[in-house]
Amino acid sequence: MEFINESEINSLINDDKLNDPVFQKEIIQKSKVAKGLSLKESAVLLNISDPEITEELYCTAREVKEKIYGNRLVLFAPLYVTNLCINNCLYCAFRKDNKELKRKTLTIEEIREETEFLVKQGHKRILLVCGEHPKKANLEFIGEAIQTIYDVNINGGNIRRININSAPLTIEAFKKLKNFGIGTYQCFQETYHYKTYMEMHPDGPKHDYAWRLYAMDRALQAGIDDVGIGALFGLTDYKFETLAMLSHAFNLDHRFGIGPHTISVPRIEPAFNSQLSHKPPFAVDDFSFKKFIAVIRLAVPYTGIILSTRERADLRRELFEVGISQISAGSRTSPGAYKESQETLEEHEMEQFQLGDHRTLDEVVKDCCGLGFLPSFCTACYRSNRTGDRFMELAKSGNIGKMCVPNAISTFSEYTNDFASVETKIVANEFIQNEIEKFNGITRHKTEEMLKRVNNGERDVFF
Ligand code: SAM
Ligand code: SF4
Repeated sequence: MEFINESEINSLINDDKLNDPVFQKEIIQKSKVAKGLSLKESAVLLNISDPEITEELYCTAREVKEKIYGNRLVLFAPLYVTNLCINNCLYCAFRKDNKELKRKTLTIEEIREETEFLVKQGHKRILLVCGEHPKKANLEFIGEAIQTIYDVNINGGNIRRININSAPLTIEAFKKLKNFGIGTYQCFQETYHYKTYMEMHPDGPKHDYAWRLYAMDRALQAGIDDVGIGALFGLTDYKFETLAMLSHAFNLDHRFGIGPHTISVPRIEPAFNSQLSHKPPFAVDDFSFKKFIAVIRLAVPYTGIILSTRERADLRRELFEVGISQISAGSRTSPGAYKESQETLEEHEMEQFQLGDHRTLDEVVKDCCGLGFLPSFCTACYRSNRTGDRFMELAKSGNIGKMCVPNAISTFSEYTNDFASVETKIVANEFIQNEIEKFNGITRHKTEEMLKRVNNGERDVFF
C-alpha cells in the first residue's frame, strides 16, 4: 500500500507554503497544456479560496476538458440486479445488518424487462451494479445477466457497452468477467484513509483494505483494459481523499502505462436505515465539491470523470462546466425499479440511496443541448478495440475529441430519430446542425454521410 502515502498527503495538506495565490495562479497556467499535474501541484490548487482564482480554475478545467473530449457528455444508466450483500458498509442501505430493507435479486426475465425499458428510453450504455453475494451475485449469474442485456434488440436499439460496478475479484475471475464482454470494470475504494476504512467496513470481505486497493492491478493483469476508480466523498477530509485517489491514478499509470479510464466522485446520500449516511462525518459542501472536480480534471486530463444522479439537477449543470465527461440519467437504484414507471413506496424500501436528480433521460438530453453540451451515446471506441493504452494514447494526445465528436453526433441523431420527444427533437436537431457547421473538409463530409445513413434508418453507424 506504499503508493498511498498518508504522511506525505497529510504534510501536503498542512503545508502553509502551498497556500499561496501566486503559486496557485502559476499552476493554473501550467495546467493549460493538458499534460496533468503532480500531487504537490494538485494540493496547491485544492487550497484555492479566492473567488477570482476559483473562477480561473473553473474556466481552465472546462478548457482542458474541451481540448481532450470536446463538448461531449457521455450518457448511461445503472442497472441494479441484486440488493443482497454480505458486507456491512455503514453508509449503505444494502448492508447485511439492515433487516428493514426488502431484498430482491432479479430473475433473468426481469433483467430482460429492465433492459427493454432502458433501451426504449434510448440508452446504449449500462452500468451493471450489484451487492457482493457469493450465491446470488456469483460470476455465473453476472455472465448470464450480461448476455441477457446484450441480447435485447428493439428495432436496432440495443445496449452496446456494459460497464460493471461489483466487488473485487481474483485474477482468474477477472479473466472470466472480461470474456463476458464488459467495458469498464469499476470499483471504488470508498475511503483511502486506512483507519476510517476499517471503521466503515467492520466485517465481510470488504474489511480487507488491500484486497480492494489492488483490485485494479488484478483487473489489468487479467486483461481488462478499462478500469474505473472512485472514492465515496464524506467519509474523511475531501483534500485527503482527492490526493489519495490521484496517487492511485498516478500509480496505475506509472506501472501499467494506462491510468484509470474513469474516476467517479460520489458523495454520500441518505440511505434507508443508515444513520451515518444521513450525517456523513466529513460532508463535502458544494463549493469544495466543484473545486476538487476541477482539480481532478487538471491533474489527470485524459481520464473520464463520472457524475451520477446522486446530485441535484442545478448542481449537475454547474459541474458539467468544470470537467465532467460522463453522466447517468433517468436512474433508479433498486433492483426492478425501471419497469414501474412511477416511483413506488416499495422501491424506496429496496433502494441503495436517495437520488438528487429525478429527471428523465429525455429531459436531461434537452437540458444538455441548451447548455451547449453534446449528449453522446457512442460506444465506438470499445467496439473498435480502442481501449486501454490505445484509448489513452488518443486521449493524452488530445486526438480523441476529433474522432469522438462525429461519432457522438451520429449516435445522438439516432437518439433523436428514435426516442426524443417532440420538443427535444426540435432542440436536438438544431444543436446537431450547429455542431456539423463547426467542421470543415473531410470530417464534415464524413459526418454528413453518417447522418444521412442514420436518417435513412441505418443504426449503429460510426467510424
Ligand atoms: N457492492 C459493490 C461495492 O461496494 O463495491 C458494488 C456496488 S455498490 C452498490 C456501488 C457504490 O455505491 C459503492 O462503491 C459506494 O461508493 C456507493 N454507495 C454506497 N452507499 C452510498 C450512499 N449512501 N450514497 C452514495 N453512494 C453510496
Ligand atoms: Fe454491499 Fe457495496 Fe453496499 Fe457495501 S456498498 S453494503 S459492499 S452493496
